[in-house]
Amino acid sequence: MKKEYIIPIFVPHLGCPNNCTFCNQKKISGQTKMVTKQDVKDTIEYYLKNFKDDHKYVEVAFFGGSFTAIEKEKQEELLEAVQEYIENKKVHSIRVSTRPDCIDKDILKRLKKYHVKTIELGVQSTNNYILSRCKRGHTGEDVKKASKLIRRYGFVLGHQMMVGLPESTKQDEINTAKELIKLKPEIVRIYPVLVIKDTELAEEYQRGEYTPLTVGQAVERCKEIVDLFNRKKITVIRIGLQNTEEITDPSLKESSVVAGPYHPAFRQLVESSMWYDSIVNEIKKVNAKVKKVKIKANDKNVNNIIGHKKENITKLKEVYDVDVIIEKDDNIKPGKFEMEILESYE
Ligand code: SF4
Repeated sequence: MKKEYIIPIFVPHLGCPNNCTFCNQKKISGQTKMVTKQDVKDTIEYYLKNFKDDHKYVEVAFFGGSFTAIEKEKQEELLEAVQEYIENKKVHSIRVSTRPDCIDKDILKRLKKYHVKTIELGVQSTNNYILSRCKRGHTGEDVKKASKLIRRYGFVLGHQMMVGLPESTKQDEINTAKELIKLKPEIVRIYPVLVIKDTELAEEYQRGEYTPLTVGQAVERCKEIVDLFNRKKITVIRIGLQNTEEITDPSLKESSVVAGPYHPAFRQLVESSMWYDSIVNEIKKVNAKVKKVKIKANDKNVNNIIGHKKENITKLKEVYDVDVIIEKDDNIKPGKFEMEILESYE
């Protein structure tokens, strides 16, 4: 299988007609300058030089803003810059992210013409009250319409959703995940809300009108949602915002994060917590008080089974008084594990 490489190109706020209360796109993309055709080419060249693998699949991804809300000429300029790399097979596909209300047939025809393969929609929630509360400027109905059209035109559909939006409950987020599943995305990103400097949400936070989730709460909420997507074999490609110089520990001076469930290994926290639950369930099935177990799992899962800073091993000892030994076994499928009771009480 070819190794996949992404060349990220950040298109800041550019063209986004909105000002969602939680967003300061300039901060999130770490860049404020308008991207040009030359910038796109320079970025591609830079990355291609640094990809060592000969047998690779390369995708150029326009992240950051609402790509299809940019004026048509600019979209074409940026997409045009990638075409020579597609023709000489140095780049294999293009991905864009955009808003649900910035999709129509003409836009999709244009993206097709320029070899865009994947379209990720920033959905955030499907609940109209929550969408209007954070001034998204689109509705749940827009999400449905855009998703259906994207799939009808043969693109890979991606969804991005948030947890911890103002007034959003755990149940609202589960409902959003269920609604999205019905729309059959192939990939999903889940972002817990962080309060970013210079946003309306930061003002609400300062006035005491918004309380962000703690890391623990965000992990709990994400866990259930990830599980829903996993059950439907929808790939969750990201959980938590990517760490950058600005999206970093709120206690650092350079951080743009004012508050919220920031953690440098957020995804690992979520996945480890899911493993912890599965192991506890397995232990509870045993008809005896377990003292020591061996968990056999694929190498790919071992770190998450152990947990961030060995959290799972420590918790199993503290809460259930169980010692755990982990053994790598690549005959076991990733995502599965086998448990052997080594010692139990009479
Ligand atoms: S639509 Fe996207 S880019 Fe525009 S303000 Fe909202 S979150 Fe930011």
